[in-house]
Amino acid sequence: MPRWFKRTLFGVLALVLLCAAGWSWLTAPEAPPEVSDYEIPLDEIRRLATSVPGELPVAVRSELVAETSMPRAAIFAGESFEPHPMVHQVFQIVWPDRFLLIDAAFPGEFMESMGASGRYWDASFSRVLEALRRAERIFVTHEHFDHLAGVGAYTPAEGLAGRLKLTTPQLSNTEALAQAKLPDAMIRSLEPLDYDRALAVAPGVVLLEAAGHTPGSQLIYVRTQDGKERLFVGDVAWHGDQIRELHYRPRLVTDFFLGEDRRAVLAEFRTLFDLAREHPEVEIVVSHDEDQRRELIRSGVLIDGIAP
Ligand SMILES: [Zn+2]
Repeated sequence: MPRWFKRTLFGVLALVLLCAAGWSWLTAPEAPPEVSDYEIPLDEIRRLATSVPGELPVAVRSELVAETSMPRAAIFAGESFEPHPMVHQVFQIVWPDRFLLIDAAFPGEFMESMGASGRYWDASFSRVLEALRRAERIFVTHEHFDHLAGVGAYTPAEGLAGRLKLTTPQLSNTEALAQAKLPDAMIRSLEPLDYDRALAVAPGVVLLEAAGHTPGSQLIYVRTQDGKERLFVGDVAWHGDQIRELHYRPRLVTDFFLGEDRRAVLAEFRTLFDLAREHPEVEIVVSHDEDQRRELIRSGVLIDGIAP
């Protein structure tokens, strides 16, 4: 065998091994730490939830705006590339005479820019726009466009001033606000919501800082009059099984597409896993889990559709 051939063969082999190692690093599962430094102080949250005078909300409703899909391997590191369904919903926290919204979904034009095939319901998004008009306040779990772009479509742009409560980290993420196409006039009209760790915003409703998936991610705790407790975790996980099985997204997705703080989200996974075990009465609600949405509607934790 000529020497040049051996050298080439060796080089190709080394390259293949390097690629395989790189691919494995990008796609392999990574276990969360045994002990987390992220805290969900449930006692304090429960106390805060009853610290605001007034009746607790009577229900939480969910409007389904779109269904898309993502390769399973993008959600569960190391699994197959089979398409996995993702729902896109807006939550409505309801009192007899008023309501708050969690997240705002996105206008239909974003389906194309997401490269997403799937289903989109214009009538549902019209109900979201109408709900934005009447909502007492609007909070978002985080500043990604699939949760925020719905407010960008609201007119007039200044019409949400005083009601759209974006936090300081959310408003500081200018790249995300641009992706969500929030008009400058809207951004200028908003007063940033500033809080340290946790904040009660209504009877039964508490925000909890959770930077990681994005700098402005937060969890939203909601307790209704029937005693049901829910913790809306946005996109910390995309499917409930990720928390139950401690199965995080691959580096390929977190580092190259999301720019996620892996260390922070892995710590949140462990804390949510522990919370689910120690307090199964607190329903951990993830935004995009089709199986969970169906089950929560069946069990009455969520009601299907925004109230007219
Ligand atoms: Zn999302």
